[in-house]
Amino acid sequence: MELTPENYLILLIALLAAGFILDFVLDILNLRHRRRTMPEEVADIYDPEEYLRALDYQSALTRFGFITSTFSFILTLLMLMLGGFGYLDQVLRVYIQNPIGLALAFFGILAVASDFISLPLQYYRTFVIEERFGFNKTTLKTFFLDKLKGYLLGAILGGGLLAALIWLISNLGASFWLYFWGIAALFIFLANILYTSLIVPLFNKLSPLEDKSLMDRIEAYCKQVSFPIRNVLVIDGSKRSTKANAFFSGLGRSKKVVLYDTLIENHSEEELVAVLAHEIGHYKRHHIILGYVLSLFQTGLMLYIMSLLIFNENLSLALGGGVQALHLNLLAFGLLYSPVSTIMGIFSNHISRKNEYEADAWAGNTYRADALQLALKKLSVKNLSNLFPHPAYVFVHYSHPPLLRRLAALQHYVKADSTGARS
Ligand SMILES: [Zn+2]
Repeated sequence: MELTPENYLILLIALLAAGFILDFVLDILNLRHRRRTMPEEVADIYDPEEYLRALDYQSALTRFGFITSTFSFILTLLMLMLGGFGYLDQVLRVYIQNPIGLALAFFGILAVASDFISLPLQYYRTFVIEERFGFNKTTLKTFFLDKLKGYLLGAILGGGLLAALIWLISNLGASFWLYFWGIAALFIFLANILYTSLIVPLFNKLSPLEDKSLMDRIEAYCKQVSFPIRNVLVIDGSKRSTKANAFFSGLGRSKKVVLYDTLIENHSEEELVAVLAHEIGHYKRHHIILGYVLSLFQTGLMLYIMSLLIFNENLSLALGGGVQALHLNLLAFGLLYSPVSTIMGIFSNHISRKNEYEADAWAGNTYRADALQLALKKLSVKNLSNLFPHPAYVFVHYSHPPLLRRLAALQHYVKADSTGARS
């Protein structure tokens, strides 16, 4: 069965609308699920006024998210209904004939145009919402420099990958997907290894942890769990926001634990070692390598499905093109693939939440569950996170379990002798 261009267009619009409605419903459910009374688990560190401020922050973010998604939904809908993508292709064809040049110009223009159109919204998010709740540390200069660097990085990495993809499709036909899968695998692998040494330094300053007493404790812990620690780095997250975080990066010898300066500022040494133990737990339980394998599998599946659709002329015609164009088909594929990628996202989030429990358990077993509980509570308060997200919202969007669930799970590991006032 072959769909006509008109039917494809209807399908594309239906998928776009379905995605928009799903997100809208989840947002509403999530907002309604919140409770105005503060849970007792966090009563020791949350004051009631601050809790109300967290509720306001979540409302503000949800309203803002609704405005941005409505805006981009309407824009994409108009482009589809008026054949805007096909029109852009026809205009570019007058000047560029090479399929790689054509694809680069096509996606380059779309990317820059959509970023420019949404610039006021991005500005509002950082300088109005985050500012109002006291999170923002970004200066205008940093904001625009970030944009510029983002463009350069996108042009080099995105442009390079796109050029390789178009070249392979044009020269190898349907078997392109296997070869490009190899390239993507290499790319993801290098990105994993080089992330903290090449990408992060473009945006932030990384420095070795200098706090001697904290480093001693970290080394003692690492020795205890025989984790050869080479690098504990501090990132200047405070350059952009007061929000705090920590992450693990790299494979094999390149592995590093990165702590935000904002995290170090607000937590005791024991809490910091507990957070680090959680990150090392991810490594010890093989989550890093499993994550890599999972993203390889997802990329392979996506490329295979792409190979089934990429030569379909009707997709180009559905977008308003005059002839078949690889970049038009690629764009149509992106829209057709969105339900699959939503399902993949749900699947990855499910695994990620499971991994978070495992890393928490690791930290509870090998270090101190109560210190991690306190750290998680403080982080949640500091970031004004939602304590009562709707289960459906968590199912679709959350890569980490909600705080109260994590605290409850960690309670199993709280040792009778460590619940006292040791600090
Ligand atoms: Zn984690």
